[in-house]
Amino acid sequence: MEEAALTVVRALQEAGHIAYFAGGCVRDMVMGQTPTDYDVATSAQPDQVSAILRRTRKVGAKFGVVLARISGHDIEIATFRRDLDYQDGRRPSAVEFTDAREDAIRRDFTINGMFYDPIRRELVDFVGGRADIEARIIRAIGDPHRRFAEDHLRLLRAIRFAARFDYRIDPDTWSAMQRHAPQLVKISPERIREELDMMLSHRGRARAFRDLRDSGVLRYLWPTAERLLPRADEILALLSALPEDTGLELCLAIMLLDYHDADVGEVCDALRCSNDTRREITWLIQHAPALDDPDRLTLADLKLLMADRAFDRLVTLLAARLTATGQPMTAHQVLTARIRAIDPAEVSPPPLLSGRDLSELGVPPGPLYKKVLDRVYYAQLNRDVADRESALRMARELIASAI
Ligand code: ATP
Ligand code: MG
Repeated sequence: MEEAALTVVRALQEAGHIAYFAGGCVRDMVMGQTPTDYDVATSAQPDQVSAILRRTRKVGAKFGVVLARISGHDIEIATFRRDLDYQDGRRPSAVEFTDAREDAIRRDFTINGMFYDPIRRELVDFVGGRADIEARIIRAIGDPHRRFAEDHLRLLRAIRFAARFDYRIDPDTWSAMQRHAPQLVKISPERIREELDMMLSHRGRARAFRDLRDSGVLRYLWPTAERLLPRADEILALLSALPEDTGLELCLAIMLLDYHDADVGEVCDALRCSNDTRREITWLIQHAPALDDPDRLTLADLKLLMADRAFDRLVTLLAARLTATGQPMTAHQVLTARIRAIDPAEVSPPPLLSGRDLSELGVPPGPLYKKVLDRVYYAQLNRDVADRESALRMARELIASAI
């Protein structure tokens, strides 16, 4: 991909334009990390870019962004621009093409505001990004108040970058964030969820949560987010106890542990979570207490839990709860030993009885059907019935006592 981006820069420069790597990839290179994607910024206008490079598409015509397909990679090429009249607290209503310097100072944070000329192998740093990387500081470019007033999403971006790199947030930037925190409510829920996903799916998640709380942003994440404040220390301890590769679902479940089902649903709606995410969060919260005393779970209860896709996360949650509250890991050890003793094929075996068996026993269709089948299946999982014969006997007894 770097080769592809280099090809773009070379072609643009050979046609007489200024062209640089820009933004996140330059930051990553200065940090000594390998960028995941490369953006190019140039003095060439979109039409000129399309004329110089062969396979291009205009993606953000209004913002002067062209996408070029080079040996299988998509490279975003943006014309140097200045953003005009932010109106909705998120996006400028218009842009004006300009020079590299102005394109640098419209960017959010100094570490994200640098260019790199890969032909001359030169950093082009109008904003002091390199110094801030050396000092490990997140600092808004220009007047922080203006920058957060223009685009409130930057509140979350600051917290995300600080947590991701474990950088300090510059004091002036931080106090502007505290002042502008209430404006987060004007940001679209999808964008808020995407940012939360990125910051919580990262090992810096506890740091991110702490900054969310301390900046005052936390209470504006969703309508009832204020309810997190009294539990914030507990949430911090739980998030700190999670393994690195934990995703958004478990983190949100931890934040919503004391919410009732309906309230969890409301938060998931508010954040426009997918149905899968919503189901998993609700399931984790409902079943978290079940693992508190794993000795008391019946074999069938345990198998029913194990059959769920989110079971591993439930076990992770148990481990985090024990660690966070300084308890011994006994419950976790007991649980894992019990899980290991169960043959995976026995977790959700095909049922011994089906609806057909019940209708052959003369059960009329109705609620009794499912009740009997569930009870027999539970007994099967629990090894109380081992074969069809005993399953049928149990079904007959249940039907007889129900009638
Ligand atoms: P990541 O590695 O997370 O993708 P990134 O720096 O590439 O980080 P992007 O969101 O991909 O972040 O944005 C690319 C660049 O565009 C940023 O480095 C920054 O210069 C600029 N940018 C993005 N979002 C904003 C914003 N809300 N305000 C100002 N500049 C922004
Ligand atoms: Mg990026």
